[in-house]
Amino acid sequence: MKKKWIWIAPLAILAMALFVFLGGELVLHLWNWLLPPLFGWRQITFWQALGLLALCRILFGGWASHGSPRSNMRRRIKERMDERWERMTPEEREKFRQSWRSRCAGFGPPMLTSCDKLSPAMPSITTLDNLWTGRPHTIASALLESDGHRAIVDPGPGSTLETFQQNLQAHGIGVGDLNAILLTHIHLDHAGATGALVRENPRLAVHVHKNGAPHVIDPSKLLASAQRLWPDDLQRLFGETLPVPAENLRILEGGETLTLGSRKLEVVYTPGHASHHVSYFDQAEGVAFVGDTAGVRIEGISYAMPATPPPDINLEIWDKSFAAILERKPSRLFLTHFGYSDNPSEHILLFRERLHRWAALAAEALRNAASDSAAMDSFMSATFAEISQHLPAGEAEHYAFSAGLNLSFLGLARYLRKRATAAS
Ligand SMILES: [Zn+2]
Repeated sequence: MKKKWIWIAPLAILAMALFVFLGGELVLHLWNWLLPPLFGWRQITFWQALGLLALCRILFGGWASHGSPRSNMRRRIKERMDERWERMTPEEREKFRQSWRSRCAGFGPPMLTSCDKLSPAMPSITTLDNLWTGRPHTIASALLESDGHRAIVDPGPGSTLETFQQNLQAHGIGVGDLNAILLTHIHLDHAGATGALVRENPRLAVHVHKNGAPHVIDPSKLLASAQRLWPDDLQRLFGETLPVPAENLRILEGGETLTLGSRKLEVVYTPGHASHHVSYFDQAEGVAFVGDTAGVRIEGISYAMPATPPPDINLEIWDKSFAAILERKPSRLFLTHFGYSDNPSEHILLFRERLHRWAALAAEALRNAASDSAAMDSFMSATFAEISQHLPAGEAEHYAFSAGLNLSFLGLARYLRKRATAAS
């Protein structure tokens, strides 16, 4: 019996060593063959491969039988971890995620310092299509992620709240995971859903210009004027607009720098479309979130047109906002209607020219038409004819719908009359 063991023991050790060696080699070659070319990850050494093998064995078991002392221990550890996770507050969970991200450092690609490729720690900007009234490319929200911080630029109207939430879910995020909402301005198509989002996640910080803040806290005046503009359609177009508690607001004036994770955003006051309009500049990525300051231009189409709803339109002030945007030399504009525009200086030059020409068209219509409604008809048909020269029929109708040509007339008419009264 003893003699037999003399042979078996070294053979068993040799077999185990061979097993470990072959396992390590297999992991090493599979990793180095697949992961660097596919994901840009680093090559690993034999010893790191062995470490990974041991880690997999500890974390996932693999060859331990159920009911063995080891699998029981793993189950107990997992139960304890689940219990701990359940007891954590959302902040503690985020911290825990962060610490694991930093522990991943070392295996990632050489350009990155953590497992950014697998997580939202790397700054990223994602366009969310709110599919307003069921149409794609009409109202865009931007999701800004950086180091576990998540902010939304303009969440859109209450009517698209469900789509907005589904868009977040598609990126593995819930409303409870958001940290901040950045409003460019408080018009319902940009900001209407804010109150509902804060009700769902009371930790949300809502950044808004000081002139817009009172109407976010109490939207009754905003809703009354919207009711006048859309007497039959307010609910269908914009859904429910809930008030936002004052304590959630972070009041802006322009000139601030917001820190969102590792991202810095400069706030610039850009009135003209609305007296409380701000734009947000991401210097690192060169993106300017300009809301409606640069008009309507559907991503991928070069035609840019004005949206000039009442009551704040002011072309002289608007010109200063164009200068403030260009001064910062962004490489891209992000428009709520809709998406990116890649040549900011050309975009603003053409848009400004069109904005002033449309104001001249409105002035001409007011001068020549017998009534305001006749002037509106004449402005709408002239501008729609212009849009149709630049775009195919379906797109022209989409643009006219997105901006609301009737509202653009009302906003310009109000501005022209105010200017005339001021001059007299
Ligand atoms: Zn808008």
